[in-house]
Amino acid sequence: MTESPISVFDRLVNVGPATPARPTLDTACVLGGSVAGLLAARVLADHARRVVIVERDETGTEGGSRPGVPQDQQVHSLLPAGRLWIERWLPGFTQEAQDLGAVLASPEQALTCFDGHPQAPGGAHALLGASRPFLESRLRARVLALSNVSTVRGRATGLRYRDGAVSGVRHTTGRGEEILETDFVVDAMGRSSRLSEWVHGDGYDRPRLERLRSGINYASALFERSTPAEDLLEACSLVVYSPPYPGGGIGVAAVNAIEDDKWLALLVGFGEDRPGGSVEDFRAACEELPPIYREAVRGAAPREVLTYHQADSRRRGFTGLDRFPARLVSVGDAVASFNPVYGQGMSSAALHASCLSEFLQGDPRLDEQAAEFFRLQEVVVDAAWAVSAGGDAARLDAENGVEVPEEVRHQRWALQQVIRATVLDGGIAKAFNNVSFMLRHPFTLADPHLLERAVAANRTALTGGR
Ligand SMILES: Cc1cc2nc3c(=O)[nH]c(=O)nc-3n(C[C@H](O)[C@H](O)[C@H](O)COP(=O)(O)OP(=O)(O)OC[C@H]3O[C@@H](n4cnc5c(N)ncnc54)[C@H](O)[C@@H]3O)c2cc1C
Repeated sequence: MTESPISVFDRLVNVGPATPARPTLDTACVLGGSVAGLLAARVLADHARRVVIVERDETGTEGGSRPGVPQDQQVHSLLPAGRLWIERWLPGFTQEAQDLGAVLASPEQALTCFDGHPQAPGGAHALLGASRPFLESRLRARVLALSNVSTVRGRATGLRYRDGAVSGVRHTTGRGEEILETDFVVDAMGRSSRLSEWVHGDGYDRPRLERLRSGINYASALFERSTPAEDLLEACSLVVYSPPYPGGGIGVAAVNAIEDDKWLALLVGFGEDRPGGSVEDFRAACEELPPIYREAVRGAAPREVLTYHQADSRRRGFTGLDRFPARLVSVGDAVASFNPVYGQGMSSAALHASCLSEFLQGDPRLDEQAAEFFRLQEVVVDAAWAVSAGGDAARLDAENGVEVPEEVRHQRWALQQVIRATVLDGGIAKAFNNVSFMLRHPFTLADPHLLERAVAANRTALTGGR
């Protein structure tokens, strides 16, 4: 019997490190040393004699911004699934981050609102507040501390093959073009990865590319924080609005207390809406939001507001290709990059690393394409895509007055019932959060009992219990 996506997902969220065995690989090579690449390198360290990360940027463990990750100054939330997985593989990660100033917000210190109504208390997951460069640098420090992992500064430019399997990576360094001999390659080159073009140019099938317009406008601003983390009534928040949007078109807002005694705050608009372009605009827009936002933007702003536009969500399909090189996989944004308001990127990367671990622990036939890896990964990508692209498609269809089939209309109605009930019923909030935190598969929300309970809660609220 085929295993259900819910059961595959549950297993992947819980995969742990391999019990030490003799390495099955000699040199594994990871292209791209950002979050997805570092997590893949951590997994490979259990299976290869040595792991080499090829990264084109100068990277360090100091936590600065860098050109290869242009989104890194925007608010990044690490979902509980991502933190859980990182903690399992790099034990003590959360405490180390806290010791260096990151803020672990308790469930009581986290405020989530839908259309101005706070969510009912739902679950016990703490959220780690930190900037993205900080998180990446902490991961890098831990992964590069492993004795068999190292980094080469260089730009990967292509692959070499032997008998249908990848056998080398071409890359340019300060010394010109070099070849790194390898027996396993992980593409973690992010959203703009050229892997598809490389393999297609070398006579293999090109992975399918799917895009969905998202049209989001991000504006993130940094403010000094004078209240110590432990004294904050609220340390992080996410608010989501449905149209009509308040305060100059705010569709989503978020704020996190982060390292260095700062608040990092975010305003998001869709389409033509671009809220918070300057510090003054940002502060004015936050007047419309819950008190934590007004509190956060009160301190001095050490830099200007930074904006970021993302036109679309993208995914690449690697399953069912007739011809694809063996010993080659792709992870992170290189496979799927979503509308970022759902905060799924780093946690997806963590779950892709889980897929890699399960694949390598299963004694795979390495001289065939890594079909089993891509099958597992597709479950994770489908789950994240269902949440983000599903939400975007519903918003775009509503904005453009598109007639949708009856079945899709019913699914969207059911989801709206569940979302509305999260502000009324803690049990429903918990089920919903488990999906948005990537701890459970979205199909778990299709449970008829959950829908019945949500409809009943909404009806009672509407009729005042009559
Ligand atoms: C505005 C915005 C907000 C986001 N917010 C969140 C959030 O709240 N939570 C969350 O979890 N995720 C969020 N994300 C997604 C998150 O940034 C990514 O998922 C995360 O960075 C992991 O990506 P990655 O490691 O796959 O790729 P990237 O971080 O894009 O890194 C790719 C790496 O590959 C390197 N590289 C590229 N080409 C080459 C080459 N030829 N040779 C060598 N190296 C190369 C680059 O220098 C870079 O280091 C957000 C994204 C955006 C755009």
